[in-house]
Amino acid sequence: MREEYDVVVVGAGPGGSVAARTAAEECDVLLIEKRQEIGSPVRCAEAVSIGSAATYLAPDKKWISSEIKGMQLIAPDGTTLELREQPLQAPDVVLERKIFDRALAKNAARAGAHVMVRTRATGLIMEDGAVKGVKMNRLGDDFEVRSKVVIGADGVESQVGRWGGMNTTLKLRDIESCVQYHVENVHIAQDMFQFYTGSQYAPRGYAWIFPKGGQAANIGLGVLGSSLNAKRPIDYLNEFVADKFPEGQPVELVMGGVPVSDALKTIVSDGLMLVGDAAHHTLPLVGGGIMTAMDGGAIAGRVARKAVHENDASVRVLSAYETEWMSTFGKLLKRMYKAKEFIASRSDEDLNRIAHAFQGIQPDEMSPKGITMRLLKKDPKLLLMLRHLL
Ligand code: FAD
Repeated sequence: MREEYDVVVVGAGPGGSVAARTAAEECDVLLIEKRQEIGSPVRCAEAVSIGSAATYLAPDKKWISSEIKGMQLIAPDGTTLELREQPLQAPDVVLERKIFDRALAKNAARAGAHVMVRTRATGLIMEDGAVKGVKMNRLGDDFEVRSKVVIGADGVESQVGRWGGMNTTLKLRDIESCVQYHVENVHIAQDMFQFYTGSQYAPRGYAWIFPKGGQAANIGLGVLGSSLNAKRPIDYLNEFVADKFPEGQPVELVMGGVPVSDALKTIVSDGLMLVGDAAHHTLPLVGGGIMTAMDGGAIAGRVARKAVHENDASVRVLSAYETEWMSTFGKLLKRMYKAKEFIASRSDEDLNRIAHAFQGIQPDEMSPKGITMRLLKKDPKLLLMLRHLL
């Protein structure tokens, strides 16, 4: 067992595997994963844009469960907005993440990264306030691995950031508590996403139906932490499934939190970078984080290489990651956070009104100008309400 690497990456989700692969193109990398099987169990509804995902993995039918053409958004009163075409860069496939995540980790290994499963980070080696490696446990044995750079890609329950002195606490209003069944015996169009909004099914969140091929679907929902009450998310889901798919047979249950917060202010410190869910890099309006984790992982991997070459992993060098992340995705995240805050504070009546105004909208109208023109015609008062989002 080696005692030193250039870079240690904690967590082999999409963010960690892409970071490890990118760094391994020029450096010695160790990628550790606490689970014994990368990609399993899945904690995801698995929707992604194939065009964007292809940047990191050549498309393969093995990791694509279904191809999506459009979507339906159903308001609390049943008003349905239907898009027959997905907007550019919107999710258009449902993955088989068990295979997808594993393929990303295999690519990291092929690029030269050393991958260790059943290996849990238990702490960081700290010297004079700087991160100098990772304390680990593998099958009961404790040991330490020193490194110039550590990348924390340990997901929504990240501890690496906290160990490194960063404040990664999420407010209840900034986390969606999600629960999902993989349901068999579901008879739906296999090329449409469906989203249900409103307090009956998912207070301050939404319920989703994502086709998984054959007669199966990922059916789940997220409830904003601050709206949780005696009724648990699983109670909402059981009612939703019983209501919509009385014949459906749940064969798998997934539970997990999704950060729907503004971007963390600090994602680097001396010797340490956070990527993906660990850095709260999910899109707050929709809760998607696969692509942002991979994009962040690629930037962090490149910056780690530079730090190793310059033999300087101080914040001065690593902050290039934070700067590039903010200039590429920061504005989008902020815009989506505002939109999430707006939607989360709407009543069912407001959601119905928005649905009425947008009924019949098509992708080519979905620009600030197109939306403004539509609202001017259909509901000018709603335009006033929505103006700061456009
Ligand atoms: P993760 O995929 O969470 O990977 C983190 C890894 O770190 C895990 O493998 C974990 O085992 C490992 N780890 C944790 N701690 C340690 C440790 N101490 N030592 C070693 N390893 C450790 N996103 C989408 O884009 N589309 C969707 O449809 C979608 N649906 C979702 C539905 C649900 C119910 C949930 C919960 C999330 C959903 N997401 C979705 C979000 C998406 O799953 C995450 O944003 C994405 O997985 C983030 O990738 P990551 O690499 O940052 O973290």
